[in-house]
Amino acid sequence: MQAIFAHKALLPGGWADAVRIEIADGRFASVKAGAETDAADEVVDCAIPGLGNSHSHAFQRALAGHAEERSPEGRDNFWSWRERMYELASLMSADRLRAVARQAYVEMLSAGYTSVAEFHYLHRDPAGGGDDAMFQALGGAAADSGIRITYVPVLYERAGFDRDGPEGWQSLFEISIDEFLERHDRAAAEAGGLVSVGIGAHSIRAVSQDSLASIAERAGPIHIHIAEQRREVDQSLAHYHRRPVRWLLENIGVDENWCLVHATHMDPDEIDALAKTAAVVSLCPSTEANLGDGLFPLAEFLNAGGRIAIGSDSHITINPFEELRWLEYGQRLASQSRNVATVRDAHAGRELFERAVAGGTQACGHAPAGLMAGANADLVCLYGDDPMLLGHGDASRLDALVFAGYRLPIERVLVGGEWCVVDGEHVERDAARAEFAEAVGGIANEWNLDG
Ligand SMILES: [Zn+2]
Repeated sequence: MQAIFAHKALLPGGWADAVRIEIADGRFASVKAGAETDAADEVVDCAIPGLGNSHSHAFQRALAGHAEERSPEGRDNFWSWRERMYELASLMSADRLRAVARQAYVEMLSAGYTSVAEFHYLHRDPAGGGDDAMFQALGGAAADSGIRITYVPVLYERAGFDRDGPEGWQSLFEISIDEFLERHDRAAAEAGGLVSVGIGAHSIRAVSQDSLASIAERAGPIHIHIAEQRREVDQSLAHYHRRPVRWLLENIGVDENWCLVHATHMDPDEIDALAKTAAVVSLCPSTEANLGDGLFPLAEFLNAGGRIAIGSDSHITINPFEELRWLEYGQRLASQSRNVATVRDAHAGRELFERAVAGGTQACGHAPAGLMAGANADLVCLYGDDPMLLGHGDASRLDALVFAGYRLPIERVLVGGEWCVVDGEHVERDAARAEFAEAVGGIANEWNLDG
Protein backbone atom coordinates (compact mmCIF):
# COMPACT_ATOMS: atom_id res chain seq x y z
CA MET A 1 0.00 0.00 0.00
CA GLN A 2 1.20 3.53 -0.86
CA ALA A 3 2.29 5.39 2.27
CA ILE A 4 3.69 8.81 3.12
CA PHE A 5 5.68 9.55 6.25
CA ALA A 6 5.56 13.20 7.34
CA HIS A 7 7.91 14.47 10.06
CA LYS A 8 5.20 17.01 10.85
CA ALA A 9 1.55 17.05 9.75
CA LEU A 10 -1.53 19.15 10.43
CA LEU A 11 -4.27 16.74 11.56
CA PRO A 12 -7.86 17.71 12.48
CA GLY A 13 -6.79 17.86 16.15
CA GLY A 14 -3.70 20.00 15.49
CA TRP A 15 -0.04 19.50 14.56
CA ALA A 16 1.41 16.04 15.09
CA ASP A 17 4.89 14.53 14.72
CA ALA A 18 5.97 11.38 12.84
CA VAL A 19 2.72 10.88 10.95
CA ARG A 20 2.31 7.87 8.67
CA ILE A 21 -0.45 8.17 6.08
CA GLU A 22 -1.63 5.13 4.14
CA ILE A 23 -3.46 5.60 0.83
CA ALA A 24 -5.80 3.22 -1.00
CA ASP A 25 -8.21 3.87 -3.89
CA GLY A 26 -7.54 7.61 -3.89
CA ARG A 27 -8.40 8.07 -0.20
CA PHE A 28 -6.51 8.09 3.07
CA ALA A 29 -6.84 4.59 4.50
CA SER A 30 -5.19 5.44 7.82
CA VAL A 31 -3.44 8.41 9.46
CA LYS A 32 -1.29 7.63 12.52
CA ALA A 33 0.81 10.03 14.58
CA GLY A 34 3.92 8.92 16.48
CA ALA A 35 4.46 6.18 13.89
CA GLU A 36 7.56 4.38 12.66
CA THR A 37 8.61 4.87 9.06
CA ASP A 38 8.78 1.97 6.64
CA ALA A 39 11.60 1.68 4.10
CA ALA A 40 9.16 2.03 1.18
CA ASP A 41 7.46 5.19 2.53
CA GLU A 42 7.73 8.50 0.72
CA VAL A 43 9.19 10.84 3.33
CA VAL A 44 8.20 14.52 3.47
CA ASP A 45 8.96 17.37 5.88
CA CYS A 46 5.61 18.94 6.64
CA ALA A 47 2.16 17.94 5.34
CA ILE A 48 -0.98 20.05 5.43
CA PRO A 49 -4.42 19.48 3.88
CA GLY A 50 -4.97 20.75 0.34
CA LEU A 51 -7.47 23.57 -0.04
CA GLY A 52 -10.69 23.54 -2.02
CA ASN A 53 -11.02 26.54 -4.33
CA SER A 54 -14.71 27.30 -3.84
CA HIS A 55 -15.18 29.64 -6.79
CA SER A 56 -13.49 29.67 -10.18
CA HIS A 57 -14.25 31.10 -13.61
CA ALA A 58 -11.28 29.43 -15.29
CA PHE A 59 -11.63 31.37 -18.57
CA GLN A 60 -11.05 34.66 -16.74
CA ARG A 61 -7.42 33.63 -16.16
CA ALA A 62 -6.90 35.14 -19.64
CA LEU A 63 -8.21 38.52 -18.40
CA ALA A 64 -5.80 38.93 -15.47
CA GLY A 65 -3.95 42.22 -15.89
CA HIS A 66 -5.96 43.25 -18.97
CA ALA A 67 -8.60 45.28 -17.14
CA GLU A 68 -6.49 47.71 -15.12
CA GLU A 69 -6.60 50.59 -17.60
CA ARG A 70 -9.07 53.45 -17.13
CA SER A 71 -11.86 53.33 -19.70
CA PRO A 72 -12.63 56.41 -21.84
CA GLU A 73 -15.93 56.85 -19.98
CA GLY A 74 -14.11 57.65 -16.75
CA ARG A 75 -14.90 56.11 -13.42
CA ASP A 76 -14.53 52.32 -13.64
CA ASN A 77 -16.43 49.81 -11.57
CA PHE A 78 -17.62 46.20 -11.55
CA TRP A 79 -20.03 46.84 -14.42
CA SER A 80 -17.40 48.34 -16.72
CA TRP A 81 -15.10 45.40 -15.86
CA ARG A 82 -17.96 43.07 -16.81
CA GLU A 83 -18.07 44.51 -20.35
CA ARG A 84 -14.37 43.68 -20.70
CA MET A 85 -14.99 40.17 -19.39
CA TYR A 86 -17.83 39.67 -21.91
CA GLU A 87 -15.50 40.70 -24.75
CA LEU A 88 -13.07 38.03 -23.59
CA ALA A 89 -15.87 35.44 -23.36
CA SER A 90 -16.77 36.09 -27.00
CA LEU A 91 -13.23 35.00 -27.98
CA MET A 92 -13.12 31.96 -25.71
CA SER A 93 -13.51 28.96 -28.02
CA ALA A 94 -13.57 25.48 -26.51
CA ASP A 95 -9.95 24.90 -27.61
CA ARG A 96 -8.79 28.10 -25.96
CA LEU A 97 -10.85 27.41 -22.86
CA ARG A 98 -9.12 24.07 -22.45
CA ALA A 99 -5.67 25.67 -22.62
CA VAL A 100 -6.52 28.64 -20.38
CA ALA A 101 -8.27 26.46 -17.78
CA ARG A 102 -5.39 24.00 -17.78
CA GLN A 103 -2.96 26.81 -16.99
CA ALA A 104 -5.25 28.09 -14.22
CA TYR A 105 -5.54 24.61 -12.70
CA VAL A 106 -1.78 24.02 -12.90
CA GLU A 107 -1.28 27.33 -11.05
CA MET A 108 -3.91 26.36 -8.46
CA LEU A 109 -2.19 23.06 -7.72
CA SER A 110 1.20 24.72 -7.50
CA ALA A 111 -0.27 27.15 -4.95
CA GLY A 112 -1.87 24.53 -2.71
CA TYR A 113 -5.42 24.21 -4.02
CA THR A 114 -6.13 20.53 -4.61
CA SER A 115 -9.75 20.85 -5.72
CA VAL A 116 -11.83 23.45 -7.49
CA ALA A 117 -15.53 24.25 -7.89
CA GLU A 118 -15.76 25.48 -11.49
CA PHE A 119 -18.71 27.88 -11.81
CA HIS A 120 -19.45 27.53 -15.49
CA TYR A 121 -21.94 29.52 -17.55
CA LEU A 122 -20.16 29.74 -20.94
CA HIS A 123 -22.45 27.18 -22.50
CA ARG A 124 -21.93 28.16 -26.17
CA ASP A 125 -18.64 27.71 -28.00
CA PRO A 126 -18.19 30.92 -30.06
CA ALA A 127 -16.18 28.81 -32.55
CA GLY A 128 -19.25 26.63 -33.16
CA GLY A 129 -18.33 23.46 -31.25
CA GLY A 130 -21.07 21.03 -30.19
CA ASP A 131 -23.39 21.33 -27.21
CA ASP A 132 -20.99 19.82 -24.70
CA ALA A 133 -17.79 21.31 -26.16
CA MET A 134 -17.24 23.84 -23.37
CA PHE A 135 -17.92 21.29 -20.64
CA GLN A 136 -15.55 18.83 -22.27
CA ALA A 137 -12.89 21.54 -22.49
CA LEU A 138 -13.04 22.04 -18.72
CA GLY A 139 -13.04 18.30 -18.06
CA GLY A 140 -10.00 17.89 -20.31
CA ALA A 141 -8.18 20.75 -18.58
CA ALA A 142 -8.87 19.29 -15.15
CA ALA A 143 -7.73 15.82 -16.23
CA ASP A 144 -4.53 17.20 -17.82
CA SER A 145 -3.68 19.12 -14.64
CA GLY A 146 -4.67 16.43 -12.14
CA ILE A 147 -6.88 18.72 -10.07
CA ARG A 148 -10.05 17.40 -8.40
CA ILE A 149 -12.94 19.27 -10.03
CA THR A 150 -16.52 19.92 -8.98
CA TYR A 151 -18.17 20.96 -12.21
CA VAL A 152 -20.90 23.49 -11.45
CA PRO A 153 -23.01 24.17 -14.56
CA VAL A 154 -24.69 27.53 -14.05
CA LEU A 155 -27.98 28.81 -15.43
CA TYR A 156 -28.07 32.36 -16.81
CA GLU A 157 -31.46 33.11 -18.33
CA ARG A 158 -32.03 36.87 -18.28
CA ALA A 159 -30.16 40.18 -18.25
CA GLY A 160 -31.88 41.42 -15.09
CA PHE A 161 -34.84 41.15 -12.73
CA ASP A 162 -37.19 42.76 -15.27
CA ARG A 163 -35.77 41.24 -18.47
CA ASP A 164 -37.00 38.23 -20.42
CA GLY A 165 -33.71 36.95 -21.74
CA PRO A 166 -29.96 37.54 -22.05
CA GLU A 167 -28.73 40.60 -23.95
CA GLY A 168 -25.68 41.24 -26.15
CA TRP A 169 -22.70 39.03 -25.31
CA GLN A 170 -24.83 37.18 -22.78
CA SER A 171 -26.22 35.08 -25.67
CA LEU A 172 -23.11 32.92 -25.12
CA PHE A 173 -24.63 31.88 -21.79
CA GLU A 174 -28.12 31.23 -23.17
CA ILE A 175 -29.68 27.86 -22.44
CA SER A 176 -33.24 26.85 -21.56
CA ILE A 177 -33.93 25.51 -18.10
CA ASP A 178 -34.93 22.13 -19.57
CA GLU A 179 -31.78 21.82 -21.66
CA PHE A 180 -29.74 23.01 -18.69
CA LEU A 181 -31.13 20.39 -16.31
CA GLU A 182 -30.70 17.71 -18.97
CA ARG A 183 -27.03 18.64 -19.39
CA HIS A 184 -26.53 18.70 -15.64
CA ASP A 185 -28.07 15.25 -15.26
CA ARG A 186 -25.93 13.88 -18.09
CA ALA A 187 -22.76 15.27 -16.48
CA ALA A 188 -23.78 13.94 -13.06
CA ALA A 189 -24.34 10.45 -14.51
CA GLU A 190 -20.83 10.49 -16.02
CA ALA A 191 -19.05 11.79 -12.89
CA GLY A 192 -16.54 9.69 -11.00
CA GLY A 193 -12.88 9.61 -10.04
CA LEU A 194 -11.66 13.19 -9.62
CA VAL A 195 -14.83 14.65 -11.17
CA SER A 196 -18.00 15.45 -9.27
CA VAL A 197 -20.93 17.62 -10.24
CA GLY A 198 -22.82 20.40 -8.52
CA ILE A 199 -25.30 22.87 -9.94
CA GLY A 200 -25.61 26.64 -9.94
CA ALA A 201 -27.65 29.71 -10.70
CA HIS A 202 -25.74 32.78 -11.81
CA SER A 203 -27.59 35.12 -9.43
CA ILE A 204 -31.13 35.98 -8.39
CA ARG A 205 -31.11 38.76 -10.99
CA ALA A 206 -30.21 36.36 -13.85
CA VAL A 207 -32.44 33.41 -12.89
CA SER A 208 -36.20 33.37 -12.26
CA GLN A 209 -37.71 32.10 -9.03
CA ASP A 210 -39.25 29.08 -10.78
CA SER A 211 -35.96 28.01 -12.33
CA LEU A 212 -34.13 28.56 -9.06
CA ALA A 213 -36.64 26.26 -7.35
CA SER A 214 -35.95 23.53 -9.96
CA ILE A 215 -32.20 23.91 -9.48
CA ALA A 216 -32.56 23.66 -5.70
CA GLU A 217 -34.17 20.23 -6.07
CA ARG A 218 -31.00 18.68 -7.52
CA ALA A 219 -28.60 16.79 -5.25
CA GLY A 220 -25.06 17.99 -4.49
CA PRO A 221 -23.57 21.44 -3.96
CA ILE A 222 -25.64 24.41 -5.18
CA HIS A 223 -23.71 27.62 -5.95
CA ILE A 224 -24.97 31.15 -6.57
CA HIS A 225 -23.48 34.65 -6.75
CA ILE A 226 -25.30 36.89 -4.33
CA ALA A 227 -25.19 40.49 -3.07
CA GLU A 228 -21.77 41.17 -4.62
CA GLN A 229 -22.75 44.69 -5.64
CA ARG A 230 -24.97 47.37 -4.07
CA ARG A 231 -26.78 47.73 -7.39
CA GLU A 232 -28.04 44.15 -7.05
CA VAL A 233 -29.32 44.93 -3.55
CA ASP A 234 -31.16 48.03 -4.82
CA GLN A 235 -32.69 46.12 -7.75
CA SER A 236 -33.73 43.25 -5.51
CA LEU A 237 -35.44 45.69 -3.15
CA ALA A 238 -37.20 47.33 -6.10
CA HIS A 239 -38.42 44.08 -7.71
CA TYR A 240 -38.68 41.58 -4.84
CA HIS A 241 -39.08 44.00 -1.91
CA ARG A 242 -36.39 42.06 -0.11
CA ARG A 243 -32.60 42.24 0.04
CA PRO A 244 -30.99 39.39 -1.99
CA VAL A 245 -29.90 37.08 0.85
CA ARG A 246 -33.17 37.63 2.72
CA TRP A 247 -35.17 36.89 -0.45
CA LEU A 248 -33.23 33.68 -1.11
CA LEU A 249 -33.69 32.44 2.46
CA GLU A 250 -37.43 33.18 2.44
CA ASN A 251 -38.33 32.03 -1.07
CA ILE A 252 -35.98 29.17 -1.95
CA GLY A 253 -34.47 27.99 1.31
CA VAL A 254 -30.79 27.40 1.94
CA ASP A 255 -29.01 24.54 3.72
CA GLU A 256 -25.53 23.11 4.00
CA ASN A 257 -25.53 22.09 0.32
CA TRP A 258 -25.50 25.76 -0.62
CA CYS A 259 -22.47 27.90 -1.40
CA LEU A 260 -23.29 31.61 -1.55
CA VAL A 261 -20.58 33.43 -3.44
CA HIS A 262 -19.53 36.86 -2.05
CA ALA A 263 -22.64 37.76 0.03
CA THR A 264 -20.83 41.06 0.51
CA HIS A 265 -23.79 43.30 1.22
CA MET A 266 -25.92 41.93 4.06
CA ASP A 267 -27.72 43.64 6.93
CA PRO A 268 -27.37 42.28 10.50
CA ASP A 269 -30.53 40.15 10.22
CA GLU A 270 -29.30 38.54 7.00
CA ILE A 271 -25.89 37.84 8.54
CA ASP A 272 -27.48 36.07 11.46
CA ALA A 273 -30.03 34.13 9.44
CA LEU A 274 -27.49 32.99 6.83
CA ALA A 275 -24.99 31.88 9.49
CA LYS A 276 -27.65 29.63 11.05
CA THR A 277 -28.30 27.73 7.78
CA ALA A 278 -24.86 25.99 7.78
CA ALA A 279 -24.43 27.10 4.16
CA VAL A 280 -20.91 28.16 3.25
CA VAL A 281 -20.04 31.63 1.96
CA SER A 282 -17.36 31.71 -0.72
CA LEU A 283 -15.13 34.72 -0.17
CA CYS A 284 -12.77 35.80 -2.96
CA PRO A 285 -10.81 38.69 -1.39
CA SER A 286 -8.35 39.36 -4.22
CA THR A 287 -11.13 39.47 -6.82
CA GLU A 288 -13.48 41.42 -4.56
CA ALA A 289 -10.71 43.97 -4.00
CA ASN A 290 -9.83 44.06 -7.69
CA LEU A 291 -13.46 44.66 -8.69
CA GLY A 292 -14.21 47.11 -5.89
CA ASP A 293 -17.06 45.00 -4.50
CA GLY A 294 -16.90 46.04 -0.87
CA LEU A 295 -15.96 44.27 2.36
CA PHE A 296 -17.67 41.18 3.72
CA PRO A 297 -18.85 41.50 7.36
CA LEU A 298 -16.39 38.83 8.50
CA ALA A 299 -16.33 39.31 12.27
CA GLU A 300 -20.13 39.49 12.50
CA PHE A 301 -20.60 36.41 10.32
CA LEU A 302 -18.02 34.29 12.15
CA ASN A 303 -19.38 35.37 15.54
CA ALA A 304 -22.85 34.29 14.40
CA GLY A 305 -21.45 30.81 13.62
CA GLY A 306 -21.09 31.26 9.86
CA ARG A 307 -18.93 29.07 7.61
CA ILE A 308 -16.54 30.44 5.00
CA ALA A 309 -14.48 29.17 2.10
CA ILE A 310 -12.12 30.99 -0.25
CA GLY A 311 -12.05 31.17 -4.01
CA SER A 312 -9.79 32.67 -6.64
CA ASP A 313 -12.82 33.63 -8.77
CA SER A 314 -11.44 35.86 -11.58
CA HIS A 315 -7.86 34.57 -11.01
CA ILE A 316 -6.36 38.02 -10.75
CA THR A 317 -4.11 36.05 -8.39
CA ILE A 318 -4.05 32.32 -7.68
CA ASN A 319 -2.76 31.83 -4.15
CA PRO A 320 -4.96 30.66 -1.26
CA PHE A 321 -2.61 32.11 1.35
CA GLU A 322 -2.82 35.52 -0.29
CA GLU A 323 -6.64 35.25 -0.27
CA LEU A 324 -6.59 34.54 3.47
CA ARG A 325 -4.12 37.34 4.12
CA TRP A 326 -6.26 39.86 2.26
CA LEU A 327 -9.40 38.60 3.91
CA GLU A 328 -7.89 39.52 7.28
CA TYR A 329 -6.13 42.67 6.03
CA GLY A 330 -9.35 44.13 4.59
CA GLN A 331 -10.94 43.79 8.01
CA ARG A 332 -7.90 45.32 9.76
CA LEU A 333 -7.88 48.31 7.43
CA ALA A 334 -11.59 48.92 7.88
CA SER A 335 -11.69 48.40 11.64
CA GLN A 336 -8.28 49.84 12.55
CA SER A 337 -7.62 46.78 14.69
CA ARG A 338 -5.69 43.50 14.37
CA ASN A 339 -6.35 39.74 14.45
CA VAL A 340 -10.02 40.01 13.51
CA ALA A 341 -10.54 36.38 12.42
CA THR A 342 -9.84 34.98 15.88
CA VAL A 343 -13.28 33.87 16.98
CA ARG A 344 -12.31 30.37 18.14
CA ASP A 345 -8.52 30.43 17.96
CA ALA A 346 -6.05 33.04 19.22
CA HIS A 347 -4.06 32.69 15.98
CA ALA A 348 -5.57 34.41 12.95
CA GLY A 349 -3.56 32.43 10.39
CA ARG A 350 -4.48 29.10 11.94
CA GLU A 351 -8.17 29.97 12.27
CA LEU A 352 -8.38 31.24 8.69
CA PHE A 353 -6.57 28.23 7.24
CA GLU A 354 -8.61 25.66 9.15
CA ARG A 355 -11.88 27.38 8.25
CA ALA A 356 -10.83 27.45 4.58
CA VAL A 357 -10.03 23.72 4.63
CA ALA A 358 -13.44 22.84 6.09
CA GLY A 359 -15.38 25.36 4.01
CA GLY A 360 -13.62 24.51 0.75
CA THR A 361 -14.33 20.81 1.26
CA GLN A 362 -17.99 21.58 1.94
CA ALA A 363 -18.34 23.91 -1.06
CA CYS A 364 -16.83 21.30 -3.38
CA GLY A 365 -19.18 18.63 -2.01
CA HIS A 366 -16.49 16.43 -0.50
CA ALA A 367 -16.23 15.02 2.99
CA PRO A 368 -14.60 14.55 5.36
CA ALA A 369 -12.10 17.43 5.35
CA GLY A 370 -8.45 17.23 6.33
CA LEU A 371 -5.83 14.56 6.89
CA MET A 372 -7.92 11.71 8.27
CA ALA A 373 -9.00 8.22 7.30
CA GLY A 374 -11.76 8.32 4.69
CA ALA A 375 -10.87 11.73 3.28
CA ASN A 376 -9.72 12.24 -0.30
CA ALA A 377 -5.98 11.56 -0.57
CA ASP A 378 -5.16 15.22 -1.24
CA LEU A 379 -2.35 17.02 0.58
CA VAL A 380 0.32 19.68 0.30
CA CYS A 381 3.92 19.21 1.46
CA LEU A 382 5.98 22.18 2.61
CA TYR A 383 9.76 22.55 2.65
CA GLY A 384 10.61 22.22 6.34
CA ASP A 385 13.79 24.28 5.92
CA ASP A 386 12.21 27.23 4.16
CA PRO A 387 13.26 30.45 5.93
CA MET A 388 9.58 31.48 6.12
CA LEU A 389 8.85 28.59 8.45
CA LEU A 390 12.14 28.39 10.38
CA GLY A 391 11.83 29.42 14.00
CA HIS A 392 8.11 28.72 14.05
CA GLY A 393 6.64 26.04 16.26
CA ASP A 394 3.20 24.49 16.15
CA ALA A 395 1.46 27.62 17.48
CA SER A 396 2.56 30.06 14.78
CA ARG A 397 3.50 27.92 11.74
CA LEU A 398 0.21 28.63 9.94
CA ASP A 399 0.41 32.32 10.87
CA ALA A 400 3.77 32.44 9.10
CA LEU A 401 2.35 30.65 6.09
CA VAL A 402 -0.60 33.07 5.78
CA PHE A 403 1.00 36.39 6.74
CA ALA A 404 4.74 36.07 6.11
CA GLY A 405 4.24 34.66 2.65
CA TYR A 406 6.66 36.36 0.34
CA ARG A 407 6.48 33.17 -1.74
CA LEU A 408 5.01 29.69 -1.47
CA PRO A 409 7.20 27.10 0.32
CA ILE A 410 5.38 24.22 -1.42
CA GLU A 411 7.50 21.22 -2.31
CA ARG A 412 4.91 18.67 -3.45
CA VAL A 413 1.15 18.33 -3.95
CA LEU A 414 -0.83 15.09 -3.97
CA VAL A 415 -4.35 14.67 -5.42
CA GLY A 416 -6.15 11.34 -5.22
CA GLY A 417 -2.85 9.63 -4.39
CA GLU A 418 -1.01 11.07 -7.44
CA TRP A 419 1.77 13.65 -7.21
CA CYS A 420 0.89 16.69 -9.35
CA VAL A 421 3.63 18.96 -8.03
CA VAL A 422 7.17 17.71 -7.38
CA ASP A 423 10.23 19.76 -6.35
CA GLY A 424 8.09 22.90 -6.31
CA GLU A 425 6.89 22.62 -9.91
CA HIS A 426 3.82 21.14 -11.52
CA VAL A 427 4.80 18.05 -13.48
CA GLU A 428 3.07 19.38 -16.66
CA ARG A 429 4.17 22.99 -16.19
CA ASP A 430 5.98 23.42 -19.51
CA ALA A 431 3.32 21.73 -21.68
CA ALA A 432 0.57 23.78 -20.02
CA ARG A 433 2.54 26.98 -20.50
CA ALA A 434 3.10 26.32 -24.23
CA GLU A 435 -0.62 25.75 -24.85
CA PHE A 436 -1.54 28.78 -22.75
CA ALA A 437 0.88 30.97 -24.71
CA GLU A 438 -0.76 29.97 -27.97
CA ALA A 439 -4.28 30.54 -26.64
CA VAL A 440 -3.69 33.95 -25.09
CA GLY A 441 -1.55 34.99 -28.06
CA GLY A 442 -4.49 34.29 -30.38
CA ILE A 443 -6.88 36.11 -28.07
CA ALA A 444 -4.60 39.15 -27.84
CA ASN A 445 -4.34 39.36 -31.64
CA GLU A 446 -8.10 39.23 -32.18
CA TRP A 447 -8.88 41.49 -29.26
CA ASN A 448 -6.26 44.05 -30.25
CA LEU A 449 -5.26 44.16 -26.60
CA ASP A 450 -2.14 46.27 -26.77
CA GLY A 451 -3.33 48.43 -29.62
ZN1 LIG B 1 -17.97 34.61 -9.80
